[in-house]
Amino acid sequence: MNNFIYQKVHNIAEATACCMNTPGSQYVGGGTNLIDLWKYNLIHPTSLIDLTHIDVGHDVRERDDGGLRIGAFVTNADTAYHPLIEQRYPLLSRAILAGASGQIRNMATNGGNLLQRTRCYYFYDHDLPCNKRNPGSGCPAIEGYNRMHAILGTSDDCIAVYPSDMSVALAALEAWVNVTGPNGERSIAFEQFHRLPGNTPHIENDLQAGEIITSIDLPSEGFAANYSYLKIRDRNSYAFALLSVATGLTLRDGVVTSARIALGGVAHKPWRKVDAEQFLLGKTPDEDNFRKAATILLEGARAFKHNGFKIELAHRAIVRNGLMALQPSSQLPGAQPSV
Ligand code: SF4
Repeated sequence: MNNFIYQKVHNIAEATACCMNTPGSQYVGGGTNLIDLWKYNLIHPTSLIDLTHIDVGHDVRERDDGGLRIGAFVTNADTAYHPLIEQRYPLLSRAILAGASGQIRNMATNGGNLLQRTRCYYFYDHDLPCNKRNPGSGCPAIEGYNRMHAILGTSDDCIAVYPSDMSVALAALEAWVNVTGPNGERSIAFEQFHRLPGNTPHIENDLQAGEIITSIDLPSEGFAANYSYLKIRDRNSYAFALLSVATGLTLRDGVVTSARIALGGVAHKPWRKVDAEQFLLGKTPDEDNFRKAATILLEGARAFKHNGFKIELAHRAIVRNGLMALQPSSQLPGAQPSV
C-alpha cells in the first residue's frame, strides 16, 4: 500500500508552493500516463497535486501575432476537434487523432501529452536493469529485443523512443512551450523541450523542479493547405508508432517555398533536420526530391539487431507523406494508404 496525499489546487502559486514544500510530490492532469507509471511501480508520489482546476490553460485562443495559444489543460480531444485547430492546424489535429484511443484522448491533457514517458518494455520490467529507471544500471535494449527502438540520436546508455504523436506535429509547426514555476514564466522552443538520452536518459525534458506547462503557442503558419501526418504501426488503432512523419509544405508556382518534416518513433524526441527542409526550397515537390530530403534527414541513422527495417521504412514514409501533403483530400480519416 502506498499512502499519498491528494491536493486540489486552484492557481499556479498554490501549485508550486505545494510542490516545493512537499518532497516526492507530483503534478497530475488527466493522469493517463501517470497512473500507468504508478501501477508499474515506476513512480511513488507522496503527494498528488491535481492541476485540472487551476485558473489558467483551459482554452484555445488567438494570439496578436496571428498564431494560436493552446491551453495545457485542454484535453487532446477538445484540441483536435477545436474549429481553429481543424481549420488552421489540421496537421496537429490529425496527429492527435492518430494517438491513443477516444477514451484516453478525452482524459489526456495537452501538457501531459508532452510529458509522456517511453514505452520501452525494459523500462517497465523491474527484473532487468534500465538506465532510465535506475541510472547507471545498464541498457538491456541495446543487445536485446529492440524492434521498436531508436535509429537516430541514440547513446550507449539508452535507445528508447519518445511516444507522443502530438509532439511530432508540434515539432513540425515549431511550437513554443510556455511554463511557469517558482522562478517565474519562460517559453521554450519545442526543439529544445525534449532531450536526447546522452548519458542522462532519466532526464527527458527541459522542465525544472516545480515548473508547470501552462500553454503551447503555435506560430501563424499552420500549413493548412499542404500537410500530412502518416503513422505506421502494427495495428491501425490504439498502438504506438513504429514510425510517423509530420509534413507541412507551402507551395508557390509549383515549387516549395517552405517545408517542415518531423519524424516520430525514431528517436528520444521528435526528429527534425533543417538541412533536409532547406534542400526542398525552390524545388518541385516530387518523389525524387522527397527521397533526397529523406536521405539528408536520416543521415547518421544506426540500426540495431531488430530495427534495421525502420531506416528503409522511414525513407519510404517521408517520400509517401510528402506526396500525400500535396493532396489535402488524402487527409480524410481512413484515406491513408499503406507504405
Ligand atoms: Fe532503459 Fe532506455 Fe535502455 Fe529502454 S532503451 S532499457 S528505457 S535505458
